Formats: sequence, C-alpha cells, structure tokens
Amino acid sequence: MNEVRTRFAPSPTGYMHIGNLRTALFTYLIAKQAGGKFILRIEDTDQERYVDGAVDVIYRTLRQTGLIWDEGPDVGGPFGPYIQSQRQGMHKKYAEELVKKGAAYYCFCDKERLEEVRLIQQASGITPRYDGHCRSLTPEEVQAKLDAGVPYVIRQRIPSEGSTTFHDEIYGDITVENATLDDQILIKTDGMPTYNFANVVDDHTMGITHVVRGNEYLASTPKYNLLYEAFGWDPPKYIHVEHIMKNATEKLAKRNGDASFEDLIAKGFLTEAIVNYIALLGWAPKGENEIFSLEELISEFDLSGISKSPAIFDSMKLKAINGAYIRKIPAEEFEKLALPYIRQTCRREDIDVGLLARMLQPRTEVFADIPEQVDFIDQLPDYSNELYCHKKMKTNQENSLESLKALLPVLEGIEQWNLEGIHQAVFGLIEQMGVKNGIVLWPLRVAVSGKQFTPGGGVDLAEILGKEETLRRVRAAIQQLGA
Ligand code: GLU
Repeated sequence: MNEVRTRFAPSPTGYMHIGNLRTALFTYLIAKQAGGKFILRIEDTDQERYVDGAVDVIYRTLRQTGLIWDEGPDVGGPFGPYIQSQRQGMHKKYAEELVKKGAAYYCFCDKERLEEVRLIQQASGITPRYDGHCRSLTPEEVQAKLDAGVPYVIRQRIPSEGSTTFHDEIYGDITVENATLDDQILIKTDGMPTYNFANVVDDHTMGITHVVRGNEYLASTPKYNLLYEAFGWDPPKYIHVEHIMKNATEKLAKRNGDASFEDLIAKGFLTEAIVNYIALLGWAPKGENEIFSLEELISEFDLSGISKSPAIFDSMKLKAINGAYIRKIPAEEFEKLALPYIRQTCRREDIDVGLLARMLQPRTEVFADIPEQVDFIDQLPDYSNELYCHKKMKTNQENSLESLKALLPVLEGIEQWNLEGIHQAVFGLIEQMGVKNGIVLWPLRVAVSGKQFTPGGGVDLAEILGKEETLRRVRAAIQQLGA
C-alpha cells in the first residue's frame, strides 16, 4: 500500500478557528496512525484576504498543540513549494493541459457581460451561473483573441449530460447531475489559480492520499472529481466533517470571541485540554473514556467515530476536561501556575499559598476561576444570614448560632492549629452534640468565608486563615446572627 500522506491546507487568516484546528488534528491523526506524513500547505491564492503575520499564527498554533508537520514551507520536502502562490506556474500549465483535453476552455467574457447575464438569470429565478457563452469558440477564434491580448480566464468544461459520483468516507457515495454544476473558473485573469483548481492540482502533485476538510466543500467536490477524471488521476479519500456550532442555530464565529484557539488560551485553558476537547467535537471514542493525550488519540482515532451531525461547542465540557488536566499537574507546578491567579485577590503574606494551592488543585477547572474562589481570604465579605439556611444540611439561623457558640471555645482551645488538630476538635464537638456533621460544618464554612461556594470545607478554610483570623470571623458571625 502507498504511504498515507495527509495535508492541512489553511488560508492565512490571522487566527486559528477551532474548526480549522480540528481539521488539522484529524488530518494529523490519520497520517500518524498509518505511520504516514502530515503536510502543511499554505493556501494564499486569495491575495486580497492576505493578512500580515498570519502564517506565523499557523506555525505557532500547530507547534504549541504538537501537530508537527513533516513537510511544509519552512521545513521543505520533496513536493514543494508548500506555499500555494509559489506554485502558480504549475497550475497554469495543468489548466492548459485540460484545455487541450477539451475539459477546460478559455473564456473572454468581461465583467459587464457576466453581470448582465447574472441579472437576467436572477430576474427569471434561475440560480446565477456562467451561461456557456465561450464554450464553443473555435480554436481560431480563441487564438485570435489571445493574439489580440483580450483578458481571459480558464473555465472547467462540465459535461452537459450525465452525473458524477464520488465517495466520501463519512457520507458514503454522493451523486449529482452534471447539469447542476457550474463551469467554474480554474485560472483567473491575473493568471492565479482559484482555490477550486489549485487544491486538486496541489493534492495530486503532492501525493496526498486523504483530504479532511469542512463540509462546506462537499458541494464543490463533484467538480473536483471531474477534474481528477479529466486528468486521469485517482482522487484522494475524502473526509468531510460537520460544522462546529455555538448552539442549535449559530456557528462559532470570530466576532463572538470564542471561536479561536487564541481565545481559549486567553481564557486560561490548557493546550492539552483544548486539543483533547477538540478531538471530541464531531468524533466519539469507542469506550467511555474521553481523556486522551495526543499520543493516545493517534491510536484511538477512527473514521467510524466521526459524526454526520454538527458538533455543539460545549464550554462546560471543555472546562471539565481542563479540570481533568489540571488535576494531573504535579503539585509544585500547579502552585507556580496558580500563584498569579491567587495573588489577584489574595495578597495576604501570612497565608500558606502551598496549602491553599493544594486545596484548590482538585477543585479548579480553569485558572481564571481562582481569583473569585479565594477572594474571601483577605477580607470577609458582607453576607446575609440567609446563607446559614441550607436545606440539605438542615441548618437555619437558630441552630447555626447555637453551633457557632459551642464551637468558639473549642476552637480557642486548639493548640496545634493544623488540619488534623482542627478536624479533631470540630468532630469531637459534633460527636458530643450528637448532631449531623453539617449542623456544625456548614455554619463554620459560612462564618469564615461569607460565601456559599468555597474551595474547601470549613475546617480547610480555618486552617488556611489561621487561628486568630478564624476566631475573629466566628465571633463576628455570632454577633451578626445574634443581632
Ligand atoms: N484553504 C482552505 C480553507 O482554509 C482549505 C480547504 C481544504 O482543505 O481543501 O478552508
């Protein structure tokens, strides 16, 4: 069997859309799983859309995510150049070959004529498309116009009858009537190829065996197939993947600030978690496990798991996966990474941040959540006595006051202020009072944090705050509840 060669062919737009990164990932996985080559080709034929520095964004993102290419503009390879605009001469030559074969033709129609045709078609309710005006020019007519220097494009000559069938690995066989296909432009007036032509020539001449791309290209694929047939080339295996949606009706869009890899990094997600999550957008693993490193994805990935329906970007799930990666970070490293976030709201120097970090690690899904989780440490917020009423804990203001009053002398009497010491004292009291744990633990948590959601229970928080501060807060709580 031939070597598997896949390519990621982004247009340099200046940011890495999540959908594109997923295409890159699937493309990479297919190549690596088969021990093949992953190729990077920059598709910059649309010079009007060119953005400075955009190619660097592509390099940077792929490197950061570990999708390392075997051939590409910077590393070279046997099938270069890997920048589409630098392959221009080659495209023209192939287009001329198609003209000779009768599968393409020169078209000299100017803008005004095309516009007129379009308006007439629109008025009669026909989908606008080229009307075939230049399809039957004789070779002499063509030559005369070329000699006279009339600007031209080269168009694909779609057979006027019959149908075209191509196979997609996800959607199966797809057949379309040729009569519905447009004589699309292959080479533009400026001599540049259109994307629609360049991708076919480039994929073939680079020996590409598998093409993964968004299914917005599905409709054009019959025309690509006809080009492969006209050249007598074998088409690659097509893998068209569904869109990624923000919700049931909206696509993920750049303007919403949540569509690109950079957006997610800026929100504090870890690269490995993003890659893991993106793999699950439109692909389902066989088993229950959804946490995979890139290496594991190489062996787990399979085309049969790719879905035919749009994937919905689920930020809760991304968060949960990010949390799973955060839990895997060694404790010292977590502390280092978390420190700047802790320090955004907790500046007290007498706090043991190592201890705080150990409490936070199992409960952190994204680093950006940390400042809000520890904001009660420097200063106890104003809080309502309503917080003491917890249905499941069976607490109310009265029994909370009672618990805190009983707890105060117990806490005062603790000599070794550490987790074990506090734990022993508090649970000793609970036993003595003969109540459920929550009756004492919940009031303690509220009293020392002024919050309902905290990164640890009352005992943990008391240890972090230290004896003096804990006692101060418990006394204040007794006063507030008694008032
Ligand atoms: N340059 C195209 C894009 O960025 C690639 C399409 C393809 O992979 O064939 O959408």
